[in-house]
Amino acid sequence: MSNAIRKYLIAGNWKMNKTASEGVDLANEIVLSLAHQTDVSAVICPPFTALESCAKVLEGSNVQLGAQNMYPKAEGAFTGEVSPVMLRSLFCNFVILGHSERREYFKESDAFINEKVKAALESSLKPILCVGETLEEREADKTLEVIKTQLSGGLAGIDVENAEPIVIAYEPVWAIGTGKTATPEMAQEVHAAIRKELASIFNESVADHIRILYGGSMKPENASELLDQPDIDGGLIGGAALKAKSFIELVEIARQKV
Ligand code: PEP
Repeated sequence: MSNAIRKYLIAGNWKMNKTASEGVDLANEIVLSLAHQTDVSAVICPPFTALESCAKVLEGSNVQLGAQNMYPKAEGAFTGEVSPVMLRSLFCNFVILGHSERREYFKESDAFINEKVKAALESSLKPILCVGETLEEREADKTLEVIKTQLSGGLAGIDVENAEPIVIAYEPVWAIGTGKTATPEMAQEVHAAIRKELASIFNESVADHIRILYGGSMKPENASELLDQPDIDGGLIGGAALKAKSFIELVEIARQKV
């Protein structure tokens, strides 16, 4: 990352892993190592059921809390859903939105994800908006087209003055949980295109402030080269975030570049 105005962000997406007490154990190990560092934004995103117990572990530390999803209404008859207000009350600062697993298994559309992005911002939650192409789309040379559609759909109607807290995660679907990583050059090409698109949706200054994370089998072994790319501002980490050692190592690798 060449641009000093953006702070690296390493976010762990625990997905549907860890009970509340297992989450406390993992959060404790992470806090022991990372509580005092401020060079890099370190965020853990446990499942809903572990948010409250993890929030207690993170209290007073510099490790922040995020959720993996939310419903775009403050309250009401939406059985099984969780609101941004509820997440804020548990001291969440971030929320992952539009993850490819939600797009695929729960048929979330760009329009629905857009409602969530807006509702998150209204509640002062920083959305981590995930975008990314499938293998089929990449092979059909449609990567940039897909990303543009996901960005313009997901960010529609957001005022430029509210946009800076947004985080984008570029996650090529074919690289998630597969062990296949985009090469740093492949990732950089898409990250640069995302930043260009953000400049056209908002403006250049906002685009320069928005952090763009890479996600897809990122681990300590491949992180350094990815983080060296000028438009890669951190990582959204799945598998490697479930072990304290690798998550801490990823934050340390980012710190060394500051
Ligand atoms: C993810 O699902 O956000 C992710 C990047 O997973 P993994 O690191 O396991 O590929």
